[in-house]
Amino acid sequence: MYDTGMAEIAADYATTGTSRNPTSAGVVFDDPDDVIWEALAGMSVPALMMTMVHMTGDLDLLQELPVPSQTIPNDLQGGMSETDKEKVRLRAFDVIRGYRDRGCPAPFEPDMAQLKTMAETVTAGPVSDEYLDYIAADLQLSNATGFEVDLRSRAEDRAALPVVVIGCGQSGVLAGVRLTDAGIPFTIVERQPDVGGSWQMNRYPGARVDINTHYYSYSFQPNLAWKHDYSEQPEIVSYLREVLDTNGVTPHVRFSTEVVSARWDEDSATWSVELRDQHGIRETLTARALISAVGQFSRPIIPNIQGRDAFGGPAFHTSAWNDDVDLRGKRVAVIGAGATGFQLVPAIVDVAASVVVYQRSAQWIFPNPGYHDEVTDGDRWARKKLPFYGRWLRFVYWWPINDGAADSVVVDPNWQDGGRSISEINAYVRDLFQQWIAEQIHDPELMDKVIPDYPPMGKRMLQDNGTWLATLQRDNVELVRTNIDRLTADGVTTVDGVHRQADIVVWATGFDVNRQLDNLHIIGRGDQDLNAVWGEEPRAYLGITVPDFPNLFCMYGPGTNAVNGASIVYLSECQMCYIMGCLDMIAADGIAAMEPRRDVHNRYTQRHTDALNNLVYAHPSVNSYYQNSKGETPTLFPWRIIDYWAWTRKPNTDDFALTNK
Ligand code: NAP
Repeated sequence: MYDTGMAEIAADYATTGTSRNPTSAGVVFDDPDDVIWEALAGMSVPALMMTMVHMTGDLDLLQELPVPSQTIPNDLQGGMSETDKEKVRLRAFDVIRGYRDRGCPAPFEPDMAQLKTMAETVTAGPVSDEYLDYIAADLQLSNATGFEVDLRSRAEDRAALPVVVIGCGQSGVLAGVRLTDAGIPFTIVERQPDVGGSWQMNRYPGARVDINTHYYSYSFQPNLAWKHDYSEQPEIVSYLREVLDTNGVTPHVRFSTEVVSARWDEDSATWSVELRDQHGIRETLTARALISAVGQFSRPIIPNIQGRDAFGGPAFHTSAWNDDVDLRGKRVAVIGAGATGFQLVPAIVDVAASVVVYQRSAQWIFPNPGYHDEVTDGDRWARKKLPFYGRWLRFVYWWPINDGAADSVVVDPNWQDGGRSISEINAYVRDLFQQWIAEQIHDPELMDKVIPDYPPMGKRMLQDNGTWLATLQRDNVELVRTNIDRLTADGVTTVDGVHRQADIVVWATGFDVNRQLDNLHIIGRGDQDLNAVWGEEPRAYLGITVPDFPNLFCMYGPGTNAVNGASIVYLSECQMCYIMGCLDMIAADGIAAMEPRRDVHNRYTQRHTDALNNLVYAHPSVNSYYQNSKGETPTLFPWRIIDYWAWTRKPNTDDFALTNK
């Protein structure tokens, strides 16, 4: 298990009083010159330029020094040449030493006009005014409003508002932190024996996050000790566990316990939540509010392929990885090569005798040369010591992916490209990706197999540094693009009649995101079961609240999967900010039950559907697991992240049907 070093860091910062959020304000340091010089080599230069401004208050530095020339995903150096970066580092060496020698005073904080200058420098492009508050909030400038809710209810009213949270993944952990902060009593119920949700469940070799971890982490608790920029699964679980522990949430979690059902009781305006522990013992909790933090990936799919159960050897889904099965010297059949199979195969090829990959469709891959890189010592040092460096590093990462890719997913109705692309910019992206693939492959037959026949961005993009295509070209790996006919006792037969023997079958065949509640029964007004109400078309106002299900709040609920950008953790923070606003309203205004007005909900879901219909995900050339049987993609989020941030700052009383106590 990885040690994220958070305990050591918390101790480090105990003296500065900034343990919860150590990177914004900076710390007092006295490191010698050689440490500073060495650290400079490992830093993101655009983020370095910004911390230089915070250390000096001198915006003229941005005129005097070379500046970033581009902002593209996964380039944390802003396209700067080595010569330019070196010029900045030399100047930074003086700035950092000067700051240290002045005793590391409180850092300069820009006003909005200055922030705009800084943001436009670092992004090498225009930043419209509507983004400034949003950027200031994520940078945690002291005059910005973050995700913390200014509570107006009395502490004793909050203390009389017990909440049950279903699930202890990243959103359940977050809910626990915010509820603890607010003094609201709560229980988190988690069916697995440990924290992490999907990250606990998906322990297959090679599992790692595909969003940079400085952004895939809570705004209030950056992990200054991440080992990788894109962390591996064990490190993410360790981080979540440490957030749980350091915020006093752990005692509120019931692990190895499942929520079987939750039923709304009209008379008492409470939820009766029925639990079953690992021994089958049942218990009922009563809550005034219910938070569903089950996410969208709790229902694995093993497709109904002929002979599915006829295979004689070990066979399991990637989300139920079987550590007892030794892959050494074995012939492994991996069925499915989406985000999971694509990470798994490179991680097992050195162990298995051979791996046959059955890939029904090829995947578009985003070039990310640093995907497996470790965080440099310099970067880690700067995030610990230099004011706002870590916040700007996060910004450099999220700016191009958050709303940056929005244009490339919009369908141009006049664009004709035989389903290969959906607009001019999308075609441009396609060419870039295709060129990158072509640079890595010299066998035309393999080339035919790995170029997708649908537009880029149509499905979840994969991130790679070249590992996938290199793996496919290894002698003990075969990529099969012919559909599977059936499984037999000793292997897999494809529709062309070819039979390939296997000792182990791994199903990397994904999840049913349109039926995200799995077997969970949430029964609202009039005995309605949410699973039945939703069917394969889950809907919720802002992805959070549902008519007829009072005081129910979803996290990472329907329509909130920002598939090609943003961090799910960020969106969870938006949702939890909104939910805290709702709970505060309940406590402050003596509300017994709140649910979204049906007309508000319906207008929202109609807008949601209309917006999605214009995007690549619902295009006829794309076939993905997001689509239900009607080809709709109700789980996806179609708008800009800044919009969601704005909509979830605070609940609007008028949107709700409220019942007073
Ligand atoms: P997935 O992307 O849905 O991939 C499933 C694979 O199984 C696809 O190759 C699919 O083919 C194939 N498949 C499905 N049914 C099949 C059938 N009947 N016959 C043959 N092949 C079949 O699932 P996943 O890889 O588990 O990923 C799911 C999601 O989890 C991702 O989109 C991502 O959001 C998340 N995830 C994230 C990370 C990360 O952060 N790095 C890692 C893993 C997963 P088709 O493409 O033809 O449908």
